[in-house]
Order: sequence, then C-alpha cells, then structure tokens
Amino acid sequence: MKCSRCKKDAIYYQRQSGQYYCKEHFNGHFVKKFMRGIREDRLIKKGERVAVAVSGGKDSITLAFLLKNLRERYPFEMEAIVVDEGISGYREDTLKSAKKQLEELEIDYHVESFEDSFGKTLDDFVEDDKEAACSTCGILRRYVLNKKARELSCTKLATGHNLDDEDQSILMNLMRGDVIRFSRGQNYYKNISDKFVERIKPLRYFLEKEILIFALNNNLSFDSSECPYASYAMRGEVGRFLDRMEEKRPTTKYSLLSGYDKILPALNKCFIPDSIGVCESCEEPTMEGVCMRCKILEK
Ligand code: SF4
Repeated sequence: MKCSRCKKDAIYYQRQSGQYYCKEHFNGHFVKKFMRGIREDRLIKKGERVAVAVSGGKDSITLAFLLKNLRERYPFEMEAIVVDEGISGYREDTLKSAKKQLEELEIDYHVESFEDSFGKTLDDFVEDDKEAACSTCGILRRYVLNKKARELSCTKLATGHNLDDEDQSILMNLMRGDVIRFSRGQNYYKNISDKFVERIKPLRYFLEKEILIFALNNNLSFDSSECPYASYAMRGEVGRFLDRMEEKRPTTKYSLLSGYDKILPALNKCFIPDSIGVCESCEEPTMEGVCMRCKILEK
C-alpha cells in the first residue's frame, strides 16, 4: 500500500484513522501529536526541571529522545533517573542499554538501585513469593523515583506509559476491586501532597506498537527482553484480552482511555480525599497509618 499523503510505500496502517503512513509521514505525525499533547495538556512549563524515568525499554527511550528534541526549541531542564531493581539475568542488559542511549543523547542520568535504597534487591524481596514481584517492584520503584526527583528539585516526573499500559491498569484496578487506585488517575499525585512530584505521561495516547515503530524508525537502541517476573503478572493476560478486542473492534483502546478520563473527575470527588497524612514510620505521604513501602520493608 502507498502512504495516504505521498506516493511512497506505507510502513504503517493506522486503523483508527484509516490512514497509511510512509516512514517520514509516520515520524512527522508522531512528533506532531507528541508536541500537541505537551502543549494542550500543559505538561511542561517554560524553565521547569523535568526528571525522566528511563528503564532502557522502547517507551522510556523514545520519551527521552522526544523530550531532548523538544528542549532544543523550548526552554526547560531535564535529567534521567534509571532504577536498578536488582533482577538478575534481566536488569544488567536493560541498564546497559539505557546508559548507552542516554549517553548518545547527551542526557545526564542518575542510577538508583533498590539495593542502595533498601539494602536488598527485588530478587531478595520476592525470593519466597514471586507472585508479589510486580506489586513490590511498582511500590518500591515509585518511591525511589519520587524521592530522587524531589532531591533533584524536579517539578515533573515523566514516565513512558503508553496507551496499552494505561488501559491495562484501568481494567486491572477494576477487576481487583481496587476502587482507590482506579479513582486516582494521573493528577492524583499533583493535588494530594506536595511531597509527590507531579507525574506526567506524555505517551499515554500512543499505542505500544506505534512507539515501537517510531523507535525503530529513529534507530534508537533499546532492550526488548522481558522481565522474568512478567509471567506472574495479571498485566500480560489483560493486555492480550485488549489486543483481541482491538483486533475485532478497532479504537477499543482509545475509547477505554478516553471514557475513563471523562469519569475521572467524578471518581476523584467520590473516592479520593483532599489531602493525606504521612507514614508513621518514614513520614512519606500515605493514606494508611504505615505506607506500603514500609510494610514491605518490615515484612
Ligand atoms: Fe518490575 Fe514486574 Fe515490570 Fe519486572 S515485570 S520490571 S517485576 S513491574
């Protein structure tokens, strides 16, 4: 097939718009949509200091690349935070890949490890309960990222979550009956405590496969190996379900996120308090007496 905008061969058919894209027009469309999202959602203000969470995978590397390009035309500061959870046989390579690409992009970065922060690797934490790997990893990583971003005086923490990630989280929270997590949304952290660095997700309206194509088109080096704990997670099953739905009913993934965004203000009002307290143990913000991170460490 030919590109809908020129006569070159198409590399991608976007089902939701019915458009075919050649490499150049796909790149142009992707960058334009990214810039529009930053501008319309006011994700980054002039002069702000932004921390980018980089894992070494395609999403976070693409985000770092796009923000680096944006910085050339729009004044803000940025640096990257790379978290080493301590997952043997996996993290070493993704870490190497993240450092290599960040150095090529000339982005300053900081590596923060679970071992330095908590005295143990993720492998140690979940030695007897691998099913708990992703929830433990998520709680501890969020803590490390927030703390480091705060130390660096960053006012935004950008993560590479894509549309597929967002939809999976919406369904997973709902299926678990976790009303609080389901009702938080991305602005939760901004409003509830000044100890949380505001999170932004500039890629949340991009399909995972579009990010992959963009990363390949731009010769970004990323690691695509899968974490050994991923097979224990519910996320993979929910992701496969969403893929099947999208295949049968194109735009399902967009509709789910946009529907969720519409009901979010009402969910916030019903289930999220205006402010929260601090953990009795570490004094970080929490809705419970002792925060989840401290509960994990105590265990
Ligand atoms: Fe952490 Fe789970 Fe992701 Fe592995 S798959 S990096 S354990 S959240």
